[in-house]
Amino acid sequence: MSDFPIEQIRKDFPILDQIVYGKPLAYLDNGATTQKPLRMIEAINKIHREQNASIHRSVNFLSENMTTLYEEARTTVQKFIGAPKSSQIIFTSGATGSINLVAFSVGESMLKAGDEIILSTMEHHSNIVPWQMACERKGASLKIIPVTDEGELDMEAYGNLFSDRTRMVSVTHVSNVLGTINPVKEIVRIAHSHGVQVLLDGAQAVQHEPVNVVDLDCDFYVFSGHKIYGPTGIGVLYGKEELLEKLPPYQGGGDMIDQVTFEKTTYNQLPFKFEAGTTNFIGAIGLAESLNYLSSIGLDKIQRYEQELRDYATLKLSAIPQLKMYGTSADKAAVFSFILSNVHPYDTGLIIDKMGVAVRTGTHCAMPLMQRFGIHGTVRASFCFYNTTDEVDRLCDALNTVLDLMG
Ligand code: PLP
Repeated sequence: MSDFPIEQIRKDFPILDQIVYGKPLAYLDNGATTQKPLRMIEAINKIHREQNASIHRSVNFLSENMTTLYEEARTTVQKFIGAPKSSQIIFTSGATGSINLVAFSVGESMLKAGDEIILSTMEHHSNIVPWQMACERKGASLKIIPVTDEGELDMEAYGNLFSDRTRMVSVTHVSNVLGTINPVKEIVRIAHSHGVQVLLDGAQAVQHEPVNVVDLDCDFYVFSGHKIYGPTGIGVLYGKEELLEKLPPYQGGGDMIDQVTFEKTTYNQLPFKFEAGTTNFIGAIGLAESLNYLSSIGLDKIQRYEQELRDYATLKLSAIPQLKMYGTSADKAAVFSFILSNVHPYDTGLIIDKMGVAVRTGTHCAMPLMQRFGIHGTVRASFCFYNTTDEVDRLCDALNTVLDLMG
């Protein structure tokens, strides 16, 4: 493989160096959550030991220092995704929190009975249910982009879904089940030609390839900290400034206000208007540390290495004749969803876990996609840049053992 410094990188993730059930751990469940680099763990540890204080509200030394670190974290995220201003970065609890924010605020301010929202068949429940709830409140409905047998979006059908009642398109950048990298620039271009805004769910994209929100021209972009080697409970919403200015706040509380009287409350400026209450400021600073770590390696190098890993795994997995793969798009991340013939995915997952190979099984929070393929679940192996070809081999060996055991 390429000259990627994989040995050093694995040392940066202490959790990887452990034995489970007597076997070295092969952690292939990165789509669910990623492991944490030492420098992020140490940054968070240092805050708890030496620096903790509430942000924005106090005049004391620690508080001012923490506020500075929090706002620097916002700038780090801004630069990481190429947003024009740091005030366009809103810290949330995760991709789910970000989508709920937009679906609520768009729903309250823009949706009327008879309006339509376009989603796709391959969405995570987080990008379905909040829109469904908004539609139920307002009497609007969902229109769904179909998925082809290869696991790609049917772009012709997408173009035909627009009507003069379409108010929003919300689709995933990369599928958490199929690995498909969607043609999101084209999706945005088509939506904009109909005067419709687009939210991109980057929960499975932003950790695998360089993302530039200005280049994508999307109206909103969301992702979760824990899937990009950062802490849990922190996430990001990016939005175009004029849209964020227009949207009403999602939650009320401290920090999001300008003036409060019992008669009327006026709201704070961006981004604070959308950050009610004490935010997960330590999580935000930890996230920034992880992003700085990724930038020090280079997202383009990470992407190249993961593509090599993807190609190797595709070759090896396709050599197992009893394995049916779901998601065979040429443009995909190193995410593999499959079923071994006559073996329930859960059994497969359980058996290979005993061989030290950690994967996920089930519907992957994408029940409509399972229904599309007429299945109840899959085994999913999701790789990232600290995984190795050796771990691909171990996965394949473990799957062959399952086939031997289960006949
Ligand atoms: N969107 C996609 C594509 C996902 O894969 C996930 C999580 O798996 C989410 C949204 C929700 O992320 P979180 O649970 O971190 O909010």
